[in-house]
Amino acid sequence: MNRFAVLKRHTVVKRHNIFAFLFLTLASIFVSQFAFAQGQQSQKMEAPKRIAIRAGRLIDGKSDKPILNALIIVEGGRIVSVTANGNPASDPKNYPGMEVIDLSHSTVLPGLIDAHTHVLLQGDNTAADYDPQLLKESIPYRAILGARNAQVAMSHGFTTLRDLETEGAMYADVDVKTAINRGEIPGPRMFVATRAMAPTGMYPLQGYSWELDLPHGVQIVDGPESARKAVREQLSHGADWIKYYSDRNYFYKADGVLHSWVNFTDEEARAIVDEAHRQGHHVAAHAIGSDGIAAALRAGVDSIEHGDGMTEEQMDEMVRRGIYWVPTIMVGASVAPARQGNWPKMVETEKAAFQKAYRKGVKIVFGTDAGGFAWTGADSLNEVMELNYYVQYGMSPMDAIRTATTRAAELLGMSDSLGSIEAGKFADMIAVSGDPLTDITELERVKFVMKNGAVYKSENNTLAENRGKDLK
Ligand SMILES: [Zn+2]
Repeated sequence: MNRFAVLKRHTVVKRHNIFAFLFLTLASIFVSQFAFAQGQQSQKMEAPKRIAIRAGRLIDGKSDKPILNALIIVEGGRIVSVTANGNPASDPKNYPGMEVIDLSHSTVLPGLIDAHTHVLLQGDNTAADYDPQLLKESIPYRAILGARNAQVAMSHGFTTLRDLETEGAMYADVDVKTAINRGEIPGPRMFVATRAMAPTGMYPLQGYSWELDLPHGVQIVDGPESARKAVREQLSHGADWIKYYSDRNYFYKADGVLHSWVNFTDEEARAIVDEAHRQGHHVAAHAIGSDGIAAALRAGVDSIEHGDGMTEEQMDEMVRRGIYWVPTIMVGASVAPARQGNWPKMVETEKAAFQKAYRKGVKIVFGTDAGGFAWTGADSLNEVMELNYYVQYGMSPMDAIRTATTRAAELLGMSDSLGSIEAGKFADMIAVSGDPLTDITELERVKFVMKNGAVYKSENNTLAENRGKDLK
């Protein structure tokens, strides 16, 4: 019985590799053909030499106020210059040989960054949603959906993603990233975490007969040596970030604080973080309860994911040490009705924590956990709705936009190239018809998306409707 199970597993693994290669190749061809058919510009197609972009209102990601009538010159995928009051110069005749993109009746912003996604996951309300994806869908099939989901994110204005683990789809995030970088399919810049880690018995799939040899949503890691080896493996296969699950089982005690069961011993968690840092990579920890957050802070992680039960002392420590918080509010609100138990109350707990952390100056970064809710279909949500929560919870719209631009670029260590519209940075930008500073939900209706100087989406007809309106 055991011997048979072992042999069978080896065969399955080999088959996976061959089919993964074949299917990914076919998927790439299919998706890129589809993109061309849609008239979307692949990264492989050469961007025009010089582009002049007229922006009626520019929120550049850095300035406290919008810049009116800006002129942005783009060359070779990078921003060459940004000039305020560029209107007199905006006559296309003044720019011979340049392509002029007229967004003079729109608001232009930096391409958005979602620092917490799962492109390999299609919704995770309960085990009934999660388990069949690992049990009934092959990794090649999931990779095809992942490539599609990356494009969904782009169409919503996200030109960069930090994708925080594949939920059992091994290293397929690296393949999606590679296909995008090679220009085979359009999609955001991706920073990927591959498999993530949890100890034996502390992450799905769970609750099945012990006779079955089942896939896991993470790489199982027990003991500090195993932790170091897992980090080395993941980095060698292309992980940009390392992620681990610090806690599980969230509950309230009489102190009113949200507690949790901690997964790794301190020795194990420190080994993960130390090995990643030793090799120049950063670590994100899933930590929802205060105990899980405390353990992650002791281990020295760089970002706390979710963090619903964060205490004031922990916030102070995070400010002191410059640790980022990616609160992922919308996913909590979205899964709470299906999960019940403590989940609805956790949304309220996190709201209170968010308000305190904002006042204290914790570095809050935009992240949605997209994939935890569906990317497509009737249950899907536009990731940018996360910003609505921030503003409803009291954050200024400008600060909210910064969580998904300059602050997120800082988290990624990419402040030199991403997060703002200024000379020298990648030409990643989006446009909306109205003013997101007066109505943040305007960002749910992104009309224009450019990545690396190439236009991915342009709903010019809608922008034309705005012509003649005074943007002041
Ligand atoms: Zn997640």
